[in-house]
Amino acid sequence: MISFPSRLTKSIKDFLEKRLLELKHSEKKLKASDPFSDLDRTGNNSLEEDLDEQIGHFEVEVKASFIKKQIVQIRKALTRLKIGRYGTCEKCGKMINTDRLAVRPEATICVNCEKDREF
Ligand SMILES: [Zn+2]
Repeated sequence: MISFPSRLTKSIKDFLEKRLLELKHSEKKLKASDPFSDLDRTGNNSLEEDLDEQIGHFEVEVKASFIKKQIVQIRKALTRLKIGRYGTCEKCGKMINTDRLAVRPEATICVNCEKDREF
């Protein structure tokens, strides 16, 4: 079993933690931009305004769920760093291609397992 040198895992950890903070920040900003969270929102909107709000809210929901997924993934990668399993696939236990990790440092499964996992 391989393990990355600590100076490398340290910079990966720093990168992921920074990314995590950024994501949390955009999640907060996104929630604030949700028209449904606007307290001044009047109940007697025109149909058009209502539709605008619905669409705006939907957009926020979609983006928020995308951000949430990324946050979960980064937390997972950070956990694997902590337990010294970073870089090995959580499904098959094989080493994750370093080219893949360079592009997606938060990856916790290898390309083959990713292909099997449709979601
Ligand atoms: Zn795998």
